Amino acid sequence: MTQLAERPNLQSPAGSPLGRVSHWIGGHIVEGASGRSGPVYDPATGRQTRTVDFASGEEMAEAVHVAEAAFPAWRATSLSKRTEIMFRIRNLVEQHRTEIATHLTAEHGKVTSDALGEVARGLENLEFACGVPHLLKGSYSEQVSGGVDVYQLRQPLGVVAGITPFNFPAMVPMWMFANAIACGNTFILKPSEKDPSASIFLAQLLAEAGVPEGVFNVVHGDKVAVDAILEDRRVKAVSFVGSTPVARYIYETGTRNGKRVQALGGAKNHMVVLPDADIEMAADAAVSAAYGSAGERCMAVSVVVAVGNVADPLVAAIKERLPRIKVGPGDDPESQMGPLVTREHRDKVASYLDKGREQGADVVADGRDHELYEAGTDADESRLEGGDSDGSRDSGGFYLGVSLLDRVTPDMDSYCNEIFGPVLEVMRVDTYGDAVKLVNDNPYGNGTAIFTRDGGAARAFQFEVQAGMVGINVPIPVPVAYYSFGGWKDSLFGDLNMYGPEGVQFYTRAKVITSRWPDPGTSQVDLGFPRTR
Ligand code: NAD
Repeated sequence: MTQLAERPNLQSPAGSPLGRVSHWIGGHIVEGASGRSGPVYDPATGRQTRTVDFASGEEMAEAVHVAEAAFPAWRATSLSKRTEIMFRIRNLVEQHRTEIATHLTAEHGKVTSDALGEVARGLENLEFACGVPHLLKGSYSEQVSGGVDVYQLRQPLGVVAGITPFNFPAMVPMWMFANAIACGNTFILKPSEKDPSASIFLAQLLAEAGVPEGVFNVVHGDKVAVDAILEDRRVKAVSFVGSTPVARYIYETGTRNGKRVQALGGAKNHMVVLPDADIEMAADAAVSAAYGSAGERCMAVSVVVAVGNVADPLVAAIKERLPRIKVGPGDDPESQMGPLVTREHRDKVASYLDKGREQGADVVADGRDHELYEAGTDADESRLEGGDSDGSRDSGGFYLGVSLLDRVTPDMDSYCNEIFGPVLEVMRVDTYGDAVKLVNDNPYGNGTAIFTRDGGAARAFQFEVQAGMVGINVPIPVPVAYYSFGGWKDSLFGDLNMYGPEGVQFYTRAKVITSRWPDPGTSQVDLGFPRTR
């Protein structure tokens, strides 16, 4: 077995050199030469554990060159060979799921069970891509005219790129590269600079599975690397997942440069609870979907819309569950919720609690009361006073306990912005119609859910609501890999959703062939427009 990337050394003694995460280009680790890099933290301790190289425009151009050179042979590789390799990737990811999860917990902070869940959902995309011979089957029409047949093929685009967010460092890359390479493209991944190690681990698994050099590349970096992708005419398509302002920028810049772009943005997911819903079930679902992964999921429930008299008992049932949520380090099996990804993100999330209170929300639970939040911010203060000037001592993890804001209204900052943390908001409305209007008026349209025992109401909701993914008594309706994932409105820029059948369409283009094998003896000049009858 290939020597896989070393596991992050979280126990490295104070003052020891930090691990370095470099690029993966042409089947090898390539150290960055730009002189620019960024810090990678262990969110559970607040300590910097690694640095990640940031590519220059020239380094990205070199990676594109390598990927472009690998394309002709890869697209000519037989479907059965590519399928065999996809099966091997699938098996290696499955076999190494614990190591992948360890990387996720170490740099993102999510708890181990959640990290394993992320790998499992990513595996579904690899399994879908194993069916590539079937997915790429074309169509054939015989005898469209006398002796003329017409058929359609789907062919790969060439070099394609994926730019991914911090919150799913393994699954979102798998959403993209599984279909992209199975269809015969070569791929450049620009992972989030906050948690880059899982991508290099995956690259090594792909190499071990037999993916030829240059077919899958990882180039780390920030806006410089992203802009180099967007401006390079050799990159034919870009898949992006991240926040809405960046998604809009990627879409506009990429399409202006002649690329296909699918850019998935942020979210504000509403869970509508009707008066006839089972309160205990709705409360369990709201708490699980709001606070799982510390709310750092684009499909997290961030707003509960309580209709009519369900509000008081529902808020009481949610509140009653909060003290039982165990917050702690992701690698502690007891923990149900880990820290946030960075100190800055924790502080931004916490700032919405003060704004909510000032603007009239009822703060039912304030995550800053949690002892781990207090320990983390105390350590920050001591660091600012000079106690941690070399960055070598624990400064406290980026923890924030669970928060619940009730009586939120549409004009409040906490509602107008994506918080992306463990803050659940409750909005009270009188009728089902008011609830649908609230959801539809929101600029985001990623996921939404309704909790009810009334099939007619659920059917009406499914018909009327403006969101790309809808759950009926399901709080996080992430589609399985053989459907496609995508939101509406400001949650997606582009025409095709990600992964599944639309992913295959995104990474291929159609070619229609009209063919005739006539007897040369019947040939004649005819300047008329070709007719079929
Ligand atoms: P982000 O937009 O800050 O970063 C995403 C990627 O873009 C990263 O690789 C980053 O390096 C790059 N980037 C950041 N700023 C850039 C800039 N100015 N120019 C060019 N590139 C830039 O997002 P994030 O904080 O990593 O992830 C969280 C966000 O992603 C949330 O908004 C969440 O809702 C969203 N998200 C959406 C989905 C979805 O399917 N719709 C899934 C996961 C996450």
